[in-house]
Amino acid sequence: MSFGEDINEWDLATTNLSRVRGQLYEVAVLGVGSMEPHNLHLPYGEDFFQADAVSRESCAKAWAKCPSILRLPTMPFSVDCNLMGFPMTVSVSQATVNAFIGELFTSMRRHGLRKFVLINGHGGNSFTSFVRQFQHDLDVHVFLIDWWEVCRDCYDQIFTRPDEHAGQCETSLALELVPGLVELHKAVAPKVKTFRFEAMRRGWVSTIRDFARMTDCCSLSNPQGANKEAGRRYLDVATDRIGSFLAELASTPIDEDFPFAPIQEK
Ligand SMILES: [Zn+2]
Repeated sequence: MSFGEDINEWDLATTNLSRVRGQLYEVAVLGVGSMEPHNLHLPYGEDFFQADAVSRESCAKAWAKCPSILRLPTMPFSVDCNLMGFPMTVSVSQATVNAFIGELFTSMRRHGLRKFVLINGHGGNSFTSFVRQFQHDLDVHVFLIDWWEVCRDCYDQIFTRPDEHAGQCETSLALELVPGLVELHKAVAPKVKTFRFEAMRRGWVSTIRDFARMTDCCSLSNPQGANKEAGRRYLDVATDRIGSFLAELASTPIDEDFPFAPIQEK
């Protein structure tokens, strides 16, 4: 990752007032990452790097189709209280994260934007109640993407192990995005506990998992088989899809039916 190499008009941090003045923005995009350990071999910023790359690549693709996307800098911190058993994990409460994002979006609303997209890169975040309340209060439209869900349908064609914390998928993504930060030789096969209650193993009772109780190395899956080509393929599919959605969203005016399709009379 590097800053300051290119001016991108879709990227608020790198563009400037002379370009912004002549520009009509329709959609603001915000990635949300986290700062937490991932096994012994991946950087604490893993979720941040992923969300940042997905946001950047999706916005670049969307801009090529409809130049009215504005990307805000990715947030590096979010809700991580269930990983605090591991050293130097950083956690910010959901209420604070929501309030912060709410104020960011309110700033953009003042500048006329009414369509917002959250690209969530961390499973500990839960934005549903924020979206419900915020779009009611400010007469805006907020769209939520848990980015790892975007290409679930092709996951098994790209990876051979399940998508769990710090496993094959996340390691492949890191090998593609931040190869200099991956110390693969330090990766260990995690010891992961299962729930002692059958109802929880069956999935009809759930809880929030305290990672330090559950796993020895803050990982839930073996990263074996990870490779950068798989990481690139997964990112390409996800950002093609998100980029197309952003372009479609940007070019669709808000009318009384939005975001629903009007009923077609026969
Ligand atoms: Zn992660």
